[in-house]
Formats: sequence, C-alpha cells, structure tokens
Amino acid sequence: KQGGGGGGGGGGKAAEAAVTPRSEDFSKWYLDVVARAELADYGPVRGTMVIRPYGYAIWEAVQSHLDCRFKELGVQNAYFPQLIPYSFIAKEAEHVEGFAPELALVTKGGGKDLEEPLVVRPTSETIINHMFAQWIQSYRDLPMRLNQWCNVHRWEMRTRPFVRTLEFLWQEGHTAHATAEEAEEEARRMIDVYADFATTVAAMPVVPGRKSRIESFAGANVTYTIEAMMGDRRALQAGTSHNLGTNFARAFGTQYLDASSQRQPVHQSSWGVSTRLIGGVIMTHGDDKGLRLPPRLAPIQVVIIPIVKKEEDRGPVGQAADALAAAAKAAGIRVKIDADERQTPGWKYNHWEMRGVPLRVEVGPKDVASGTCVTARRDMPGKEGKQFGVPMSPPAFTAHLHSLLDDIQTALTAQAAAFRDDNIVDVRSYEELKEAIAAGKWARGGWAASDDDERRVKEETQATLRCFPFQQPPGPHSCIMTGQPAAEVAIFAKSY
Ligand code: AMP
Repeated sequence: KQGGGGGGGGGGKAAEAAVTPRSEDFSKWYLDVVARAELADYGPVRGTMVIRPYGYAIWEAVQSHLDCRFKELGVQNAYFPQLIPYSFIAKEAEHVEGFAPELALVTKGGGKDLEEPLVVRPTSETIINHMFAQWIQSYRDLPMRLNQWCNVHRWEMRTRPFVRTLEFLWQEGHTAHATAEEAEEEARRMIDVYADFATTVAAMPVVPGRKSRIESFAGANVTYTIEAMMGDRRALQAGTSHNLGTNFARAFGTQYLDASSQRQPVHQSSWGVSTRLIGGVIMTHGDDKGLRLPPRLAPIQVVIIPIVKKEEDRGPVGQAADALAAAAKAAGIRVKIDADERQTPGWKYNHWEMRGVPLRVEVGPKDVASGTCVTARRDMPGKEGKQFGVPMSPPAFTAHLHSLLDDIQTALTAQAAAFRDDNIVDVRSYEELKEAIAAGKWARGGWAASDDDERRVKEETQATLRCFPFQQPPGPHSCIMTGQPAAEVAIFAKSY
C-alpha cells in the first residue's frame, strides 16, 4: 500500500507523533520508524523508494566501511552500463530462468521500437562477463577482481522499504580466477567480510552459512549467506556471496590461456549487499521510541542539546556547547549541536531518540558553572542511562564519550546476540520443527532430505531453509524429515 504509515512528513514544530508500539504491530512499527526518522519515503511507482538524507547517510556509512575493506583486499571499483542486451541474460540458462519474472525491459528508445529489448540490470554477471571475455587473455590477467556500487532493478511484487524494493542500491563484486579453489576461497572470504561487518559495525550478529540448492542464486554453483534475526524473529538474508564455477565463463567464452597455452574457462565469484542492510539495522535494534543506531554506523554519534531558559544564559551555554562539539570533533566523534531556538529540549530529546542517535549531551547554565555536563544513552531508558557531573574539559570529556560509544556498540551487539540465541530451537522431527515455527522461532535440525521435502516445509509452514550454518553443532545428526543420517544441520525460519 503506497503512502501507508507515512504520517504526512512535513516536519515543523508540532510534537512528533509516537510510533506504533513494536509489540502491537511490528510491520506498522517498522513503517512508522522509516517515516518518522525520515529515512525513506515512497516513490510514485509502486515498490520504489526515495532514500532521504538521513537514510542515505547510513548507506554512506555502510559504503565507506565496506569499500575500505574491499580495497584492503585488493578489489578495485569500476562501473558498467545499466542497460544490458536481452540476449546476454538469455545466455546462461538458469540465470534467465531465475531472473525472467523480475526483469524490467526497455523496448523503445528515442521514440522508436528497439531491435532488441534492453534489460535494466537486475545484477551484472552477464555484462561483466562480456567485458571480462575481452579483457582476460592469459593466466597473467588473473585474478581479476572488480566491484561496482550501483542501483539494480528487480520487479518484486511484495515490497517493503529498504528490505525489498523494486530498485535498490548495492555493491556487486565480480571476480575471475584461474582455479576452482581460488573462486571458492574468494566466495568464502567475502561472506566472512560481510559477517564481520554485520557483527562488528552494524551490531547485527548474523548466522553465516550455505544456501540450499533451491535457495541459491540463479546461475551459481554455491551461494553463501549471512542470515540475521529481526526483532519479530523473522530471518533476513542480509548479504550473499556466490561461487559461480564456470557457468558464466562457458556461456560468455571467458577464457584464459594457461601456462601450457591451453584455453580454460575462468572460475568466478560474485557477492553483494544492498540497502536492505539498513532495514536489518532498524529491525534488529529499533524500539518503541524509534531507531537505535550502533555507534560505528551512526551518521551522528553524539547530539549536544544546550538547555537555555533565561536569555542571559544563551551566550555562555552556547559557547560551552560549541567547545564540547569542537573537542568531540577533534577526537574523531561525529557530533551535532541542536541549538534550534524554536524547539524545547524535551522535543529535541524525542526527535534525536527517534533518529537513533546513540548518545546525548545536555548542557545548561548550572553545568557551565560547575564545568560539567550530562550524558544520556539511547540504549538505556531514563535515569539508568544518564550520567551527571561529566567533566567538560576535553581529554576527560572525549574519553568519556569514546568509552560510552564503545559500551553502546557492545551492548547492542550483545542484546541482539542473546535474542537470536534465545530464539533458535534444536528440533529432532518435522513435528518439532512445525512447533518451533508456529511459536515464531528458528528451527535447527539435521537435514538430508530432498528438494521436494524442502518445498513441502515451505508450503506447510511458510518457513524456508535459511542456511546450513558454517558453525555446526557436534554430531551425529539425523534428518528431521527422513530419520536418515544427516551430515549437517540446517536452519529453517520464516523470513522477509
Ligand atoms: P543476490 O544477487 O540475489 O544474491 O542479492 C544480493 C543481496 O541483495 C541479497 O543478499 C539481499 O541482501 C539484497 N537484495 C536482494 N533483493 C533485494 C531487493 N529487492 N531489495 C533490497 N535488497 C535486495
């Protein structure tokens, strides 16, 4: 439903409306937070989304963290065209079968029918292989490891801001290697990068693992995933990495001459995370007051609120706030002063709590007189999260902020991890799986059954096989469906 939960935007002076309580209606709560924290709005085309400046700032934080890691690993950025000849998509049989229902096609250009329709990229394996086939000649050109930051289009029917939109922003890494082992290593390395980023930066403790055949990327031999548990205990596939084998290389003739001058197809990987991560952060950490951002990802880590009741205090309090902000900034903290004279301090507290700013500093005339200020943690309600008499002098003040920001990052991660662990149930039979899913939990148990059995679980419980986790509990295991020995356990859950 377009425009639902929008709340009319507008901003202005009126008190900001509260969000729907999370426990009452999680979906509505989510849409309220997205709207009231001004993260995104609906586009005019169904399923599209406008990312507003505050939401975009979170995306920029994601980008800067990941881009830095990719570059440390020697991956280079490049850009490929958004329009792809339809024939490219059709070259890899499974790829076209998987993506056909979601393709947006351009059939006219410059007022004329095009000879061949163009696909608005849903992902770029095809066009990148078209180029790799020209750029790669010999083993000396390998490995080739590129990434692009861009938008993609997938004509999704069931949409939700950030989580699943018709157009989304992402990065897509594409690599080519001389050996199967190297491609596999790369696919594993990148899912590890995503898992580490999700856990240490987004405070989203994910379960990394391997997708089942049914849930794998169209055209991949193997898909790895990071699965996160949202506040309503649904699973979110927060990032994926694929071992593509030689599937695209064979379809596009991406070959290299090996050391004995034989033509060989390259072995490839691709990997991506999207603006869905922002949805994950909202649904992992948010509460009834709105967003809660982990400090390492927060565009604003500390907001300073000057408290002025009498006009004569305005000057000294303002100066103290400026000095605190300057000290915080010099210490590498992302800080903002909210000195808007038209709003009350109480209004501002709500405003920045809704936006998930991890830490607030309050400074009033009495504080100025005593050379101290007050800090308030977003992750701890009321008095519990407040500290009075915090020294204003720079080294002590900034050390206090740094240590609180670290504590908040750790606390959010620990809360999310505890919640996840409390809600994964070990099951021994299909009956137990059904019970766990009906209770809203994730079910973990041995799985060695058929694709048809996997489809049956989905039909009967709406839960899907999220992954075979890398971290396996000690065996032996037996399959919950067939009772036969199972080499691995899998996790089933309802998902976004
Ligand atoms: P894929 O190329 O299908 O493996 O997708 C890579 C990642 O993009 C997935 O793991 C999701 O996190 C994300 N993603 C997929 N579809 C969407 C969508 N419609 N909206 C937002 N993010 C998406």
